[in-house]
Formats: sequence, C-alpha cells, structure tokens
Amino acid sequence: MPQLILVPGKERSVFRRHPWLFAGSVERLIGQARPGDTVEVVAGSQVLGKAAWSPASQIRARMWSFDAAETIDDVFFKRRVAAAVARRATLPSLVGQSGLRLIHAESDGLPGVIADRYGDLVVLQLTSAGAEKWRSAIAGALAKATGCSRIYERSDSEVRSLEGLEPRTGWLYGSPVEEAVVIDEHGIRMGIDFVAGHKTGFYLDQRDNRRLLGQLAGGRRVLNCFCYTGGFSLQALAGGAAKVESVDSSEPALAQARTNLALNPQLDAARADWRCANVFDELRRLRAAGERFDLIVLDPPKFAPSASHAERAARAYKDINLHGFRLLSPGGLLMTYSCSGGVGLELFQKIVAGAALDAGRDARIVQRLQGAADHPVALAFPEGEYLKGLLVEVS
Ligand code: SAH
Repeated sequence: MPQLILVPGKERSVFRRHPWLFAGSVERLIGQARPGDTVEVVAGSQVLGKAAWSPASQIRARMWSFDAAETIDDVFFKRRVAAAVARRATLPSLVGQSGLRLIHAESDGLPGVIADRYGDLVVLQLTSAGAEKWRSAIAGALAKATGCSRIYERSDSEVRSLEGLEPRTGWLYGSPVEEAVVIDEHGIRMGIDFVAGHKTGFYLDQRDNRRLLGQLAGGRRVLNCFCYTGGFSLQALAGGAAKVESVDSSEPALAQARTNLALNPQLDAARADWRCANVFDELRRLRAAGERFDLIVLDPPKFAPSASHAERAARAYKDINLHGFRLLSPGGLLMTYSCSGGVGLELFQKIVAGAALDAGRDARIVQRLQGAADHPVALAFPEGEYLKGLLVEVS
C-alpha cells in the first residue's frame, strides 16, 4: 500500500482525530496512488491510520480510519454506513422521520459522503475522490442498512471540482420513481424535487427549527425570507399565523412551495403570499411601503463558503439583519441564521448585535439554534458546525 509520509509535527492533528490532511502536511508519497486510492498515513516509523488520497485537492487526504490495522474495503463501508443509520434510530427527535439525513460526511466517519432519506428513496451525494472510489460499496451498504429500494445520485455539488471530479447524477440503484416523493415533517406534507432541487432536494437540517417557528407563529404576521420550498412558511400557517409572506429569488423553488401548500389542504391558503424577489431589495421595499411584521425568518444561502469570504459575507448578513430589525413590530421576533462555515457563532452574533444597534432596536437572544440531530458535529471536526441561528426578541 502507498504510504503518505507526514511532515514532522503534522501528526498532531491526526492524534486529535481530525480527518483532513492538507497539502502542507504531506512530506511525500511513497509508491503510486491514483485519486481516491487508500494510503497509509505514516509519521516517523508509526502508521497512524488509513486515508483516501486526493492529489487535486488542497485537502490532500481524508482519514478513513485512525486504526492502522483496519482494512478499507466493502466490509468497512458496510460497518460505517450501518453505524450511521443505527445511531439515528436511537435519537428520539429522529425516530419516525420520513425525511432524514443518514450520513453526514466527516461527522459520521465518512468524509465526502452525504446520504438523505426521503421515504423509500435515498439520495446520495459524493464530494471527495475517496468517496467516489467507493461509490458502489457505499450504495450497496446503504441499500442493505436501510432496506430502501431506490438510490438516486446527486453528485453535482460544486465542491467536486476541487477534487478533480466531474458532476454525476442519475439512478444508482432500483427502478426510477414515477410518483412524486413526499415526506411528512411535523404533520406537514412536503414534496421533494430530488432531481433538480437544491442539495439533495431539501434542507433537512432546519427540521426542528421549522417546528419551533410553527410554535411561535400563532396570531402573528410572518415574513419568511429565503423561503425555498416553503418549509418554514407552512409550519407558520399550521401554527396559526395571521398572514405568512414568503420571499425567494428562485421560481422553481416557489413553484414547489405552492405545490407543497396544495398538498396540505388543512392549511388556510388565503393567508399565504409567495413573492419572487431578491430579499435585499424586498426588505427595503417593504420598509418603504410602511409594512410591519411580528416574526421574521432570515435563512439565507451560504454567503461565506470559507473564512476567506467572511468579510463580504459579514456585510451581507449585516444588511439583511439590519433591515429585518427595522421591519419588526414592538415585541417582534427575528429568527436569523448563517450556514456559512466561514462565519462562526461568535462573529455571527456580533454582526446581528451590530445590526440591532444600527436599527436602533433594543434586542435580546432568547434561544440559540442549530441543525437537527441527524446533522451531528464530530467533536474532532469543528468545521462540521456550519448552521447557527439566533432567536432574537425586540422591545
Ligand atoms: N429556509 C429554507 C432554505 C433556504 S435555502 C428551508 O427551510 O427550506 C436559501 C434560499 O435562498 C434558496 O431557496 C435560494 O433560492 C434563495 N436565495 C438565494 N439568494 C437569494 C436572494 N438574494 N434573494 C432571495 N432569495 C435568495
């Protein structure tokens, strides 16, 4: 097996069980390895574990195992996949969910592997050279561990290009689904466009936060910014909101949102309003029109994929939060998020505090928010913590 020799001192992150080995940590490779091949990770004369080699990426290798004796083969993937699936069956908030993230990459010991379950369908996304190499082993392990009859591949994330991988989508296992795929989320039916929707089709990470919004919405006038397919909006309607106005710049997302509303005839559709607009402009327009809301959700896309984008992202977060605060009625609530890995909780809180100050609003955090339990964060891998949110109440 090829050996990846670490630069002296760089073994420390491996001892801390961090799964990434950057180019600067690699002294040399002994032997031949193609992208995705398994290499032994060596410091001095000690083998520290096994990793997937990715010569095109700045993350030159990702650890599969910190056990030098562990073999990386089909059985290894069966074990890891089965463990990830089993772990979710022990968490009360996840039991019985028809939409569930089964594998959350590094934090489930499977770098570059994302698997989301929508009813009887699993959508698989592979984003690293190592994951790509073991594609059929992973798919086979998923079929076995879940009993699901179909797997669709959505390996079209842009990050694949960093690993020298082309996009790939299509049926990987089982026969194509003819009917619409619909999940139940806290009593609301949501259709999933797993072929053309964002990510694998849905933002499962916000599941618990959408329920919380429903619990807060009773009698309130709600503005849901960056609504995608309406997950927060429909929970707000179910929670008895007086009015729910939703904004997104994507027509296909809004079309799915309308379909989702129609899938839930128990909701009062007359209270829902969908608008295709740029949130940055729309917040200003609403302000100029003298509108006021009692509850505002800001769940924007990733403004800062990495720390190098943090400054520009900070300005964007500041802008929407400032305008959000200005639109809140006295006693109103702002539910605000960042899913940027490059913006940590501390920075995000500072930005939101600055926005409240500039808006002249006296405000307090009443709850911190994060992703659901099927999106765990390995303690050794703080980079896995991307979603952070604040529930803020204004005077
Ligand atoms: N809250 C959603 C997920 C939001 S994802 C849920 O619970 O499912 C971010 C959304 O922001 C996407 O739907 C994207 O189309 C939209 N978006 C991105 N930039 C935008 C902009 N400038 N104005 C309005 N919508 C935008």
